[in-house]
Amino acid sequence: VPVSNIRNFSIIAHIDHGKSTLADQLLLKTKTVAERDMVEQFMDSNDIERERGITIKLNTARMKYTAKDGQLYALNLIDTPGHVDFTYEVSRSLAACEGALLVVDASQGVEAQTLANVWLALEADLEVIPILNKIDLPGADCERVIREIEEIIGLDCSNILQVSAKMGLGIEETLEAIVHRVPPPKNNIGSNLRALIFDSYYDAYRGVVCQFRVTDGSISKGDVVRMMNTGKEYQLDEIGVLAPHKVEVDTLYCGEVGYLAAQIKSVKDARVGDTVTQKSAPAAEPLAGYQDVQPMVYCGLFPTNSDDYQDLREALGKLQLNDAALKYEPEVNNAMGFGFRCGFLGLLHMEIVQERLEREYDMDLVTTAPTVVYECMTTDGEVMTINCPSDVPEASKREWMAEPYVRLEMVAPKEYVGNLMDLANNRRGEFVEMKYLTDSRTTLIFDIPLAEVVTDYFDELKSRSKGYASMEYKITGYRKNELVKLEVRINGEPADPLAVVCHRDSAYKIGKALVHKLKELIPRQMFKVPIQACIGVKVVASETIAPYRKDVLAKCYGGDMSRKKKLLNKQAEGKKRMKALGKVEVPQAAFMAVLNLN
Ligand code: GDP
Ligand code: MG
Repeated sequence: VPVSNIRNFSIIAHIDHGKSTLADQLLLKTKTVAERDMVEQFMDSNDIERERGITIKLNTARMKYTAKDGQLYALNLIDTPGHVDFTYEVSRSLAACEGALLVVDASQGVEAQTLANVWLALEADLEVIPILNKIDLPGADCERVIREIEEIIGLDCSNILQVSAKMGLGIEETLEAIVHRVPPPKNNIGSNLRALIFDSYYDAYRGVVCQFRVTDGSISKGDVVRMMNTGKEYQLDEIGVLAPHKVEVDTLYCGEVGYLAAQIKSVKDARVGDTVTQKSAPAAEPLAGYQDVQPMVYCGLFPTNSDDYQDLREALGKLQLNDAALKYEPEVNNAMGFGFRCGFLGLLHMEIVQERLEREYDMDLVTTAPTVVYECMTTDGEVMTINCPSDVPEASKREWMAEPYVRLEMVAPKEYVGNLMDLANNRRGEFVEMKYLTDSRTTLIFDIPLAEVVTDYFDELKSRSKGYASMEYKITGYRKNELVKLEVRINGEPADPLAVVCHRDSAYKIGKALVHKLKELIPRQMFKVPIQACIGVKVVASETIAPYRKDVLAKCYGGDMSRKKKLLNKQAEGKKRMKALGKVEVPQAAFMAVLNLN
């Protein structure tokens, strides 16, 4: 296929608006995948993704399509992850395209993620083709949604595509629109090789498999290539296209999309956003936009059984081969024993890693509450980066502390504006702007500390808007604030894993709620247990757990042994995810207590 007949595009949408369903339909219609081989939602290939209904890892597929003009086209669909944690990856896959299909659910309308994604696509200079999906639904309101797309995003909707991905309606029209409206790639065949890596994952047999888009020159099997940002060099064992299964080829030319394998050991060596060039004829400049993404959220991961420490280390190492954004370092803690302090792009990323460790590696973990990364200048003039609240130096040794802020956009029907304003104000949000999207829907913009957003903010947003609001955010930078370290003492001993950083003004309220919650969560012991929240030496709140002599077998009068056994087993199960802080057994839930104090 000549360059003029290649189309590289992605599909962008708010979650649940039908991106995966539409992708499946395009694969079916072009006979890239036969109906009988179609696992529902082919593009979301990972189990966890399918269960959660979100796309995390990218997948591409090349489709061959003979258009109504009689010509054969190669359509490369580049899937994008659909979550704020992975914005950088989204931006790199969009950079590999010339166009994007913007899918909007006709019964819902424009949502926060629709906007965030469309701005990324426009920034990447893509041709954005709006699509109304789910027109089969009785609640579809095409006219209203068209107005939203025209007024908010400013896209011409005069010949908007009306689709039901579920029913397979409007799919051919969509393919024709891709052919006629998405521009072909620029022809830079005469230049030295440059190819943009937009995804990489670890494969046990091939090593890291990178997906890339050739922007200049060509790439062949056997070439010795250099990753321009990491400087690593490799001889290519294999290149090919995903159709959507791997099909080996000898050469890929400018404009084409494919994969390469070269026994690369870890995704760290072939990062998303890096530029592949030839060692013998390197390009002068790498492609723009490469970033070494930094974790924004940290937590401690500790094996429930300390004998599993080595296994946890190995499991994290294996996950990291496949996940350049995951960071970990050993953490030793007198309370928790040996574990790891792990860094993640965001909360979803954190949950996914925890789930993989538990499911795929069979680990039993105790996890401490997530925290953002703080900056602190000490009286010595040193600026520290702090990813663990108990590392915050005492007040007399601090000049200032700063925390990351985000620009938060909430989209909701106007009747919920008051509720959402309240929510953001309670969480230290600073109002920036309110815009009417249409006469019934608004977008609210706030600057707010990331720490406030990574707790239960999303759940609260949903409950205060009956599920109608959506949100997106992006990190804007650090700001100094009056932050304090709130420490917890259990039975007189400092419980480092329960320490939190919070604003001075809310320290009293948080301390009170936290000790109250801990009192509920920590089981009674044989002795009296005082729980205190302190700032420095000052106790801001305290509670006491009364002693209790546990005698669970007393309930089983008579000699029913099997029942007794069951009860004992049950108790052992409940004990599993406990950690002894001093003499007190503390369950997993207590380590997360600070996340939902409201
Ligand atoms: P994604 O999160 O954007 O990938 O959305 P999915 O493709 O997973 O779709 C979300 C839900 O909407 C699924 O239950 C789909 O079956 C459903 N869905 C997708 N397209 C349509 C459509 O055209 N009509 C109807 N009624 N449901 C649809
Ligand atoms: Mg999906």
